[in-house]
Amino acid sequence: MNAKLSSALLASSLLALLAGCDTDPQGRQAAAFEGSCVGFCGGEAPTGCFCDADCMENGDCCPDAARECTVVANEEECGDHDSTGDDDSGDADADADDDPDPNDLCFLGPDRDNSVCVPLAFPGSPSGYNYPSPLNNNYRKPVAYIDLDQVDESTKIAPNFSLGEIATRVKGRYAVVQPHAVERLQAMRDAAGGLRINSGYRSPSYNSGVGGATRSRHMYGDAFDIKPLSTSINALEGVCTSNGGKLVEYNSHVHCDWRFDPQDQKLFGAAAIAPGTYPDDFAVDEYSASIQRSEGVLSAPAQGFDEGEPVRRWTAFDASGDIVAELTGETFTPPADAASVSVDVGRVVEVTAEL
Ligand SMILES: [Zn+2]
Repeated sequence: MNAKLSSALLASSLLALLAGCDTDPQGRQAAAFEGSCVGFCGGEAPTGCFCDADCMENGDCCPDAARECTVVANEEECGDHDSTGDDDSGDADADADDDPDPNDLCFLGPDRDNSVCVPLAFPGSPSGYNYPSPLNNNYRKPVAYIDLDQVDESTKIAPNFSLGEIATRVKGRYAVVQPHAVERLQAMRDAAGGLRINSGYRSPSYNSGVGGATRSRHMYGDAFDIKPLSTSINALEGVCTSNGGKLVEYNSHVHCDWRFDPQDQKLFGAAAIAPGTYPDDFAVDEYSASIQRSEGVLSAPAQGFDEGEPVRRWTAFDASGDIVAELTGETFTPPADAASVSVDVGRVVEVTAEL
């Protein structure tokens, strides 16, 4: 890993080490998304946020500025973190002359400088953590967890989110929370206003207890069920996708996850399955739907939606293919001139039928 360090990055990392700040490039996830600093360090991203050294002070950093750009995460900002009320930064400060503690997992934190670090636990295979066989590298079994008996759930892991909002003891003592997903979640909060997280991490036994999908992303620490407090579910789903998320749209919430991003190596170890061994998007096959007709009224029973009823968006077309009606709702009565109809179910399945 160290071979790919540029000299500038190395110098910055050394400064960061002296300040007790983990900017370990192994923890970086160089996945670009709209509003990302990838490719724009030192300047302005196309969406108008900044990736330069002044953005911290000006308060206009892109969500991943500190992580992607060494010019942003400088010595001074890392050194500030003792004054932020972070009580769970592990022992990094005591080891100023050593490498960053590989057993710490660092989050964005309240000051967006990735300085809130919590110790990882290595419990082996505790009861209730039977992960399914990994069908690709993004479904590997975790090798490390956050022990919620050791880490305070009130720890602020992002400006608007505490650890307990995303992982709580009742859903599993050992939790998996991926820092890059928390960063994306905060970016969604920045764009959409108040959010309520109905569900974040679930241990495998908790997940099966609530009827979760066999390979629910909630077990991998990069999925959130989000209810918007100041915007619509329709608007929030756009915020999920613009931040690189994969979504499922339910009547009650938006499920947003980052199943296609590189997985955090501290939590999951190194990727071990050859790319292409399994399809990347096999999980999409979990969802299905069909169109049924009863006395002129259409419905779309669906399978695989494990978190409630998905939103159905209906469109009717006439014989020449022009749209003659649209409706969002459980059932749909197409107009007399409709020749075919399609329904989008939860933003993951689309079914078409001739009338
Ligand atoms: Zn969900």
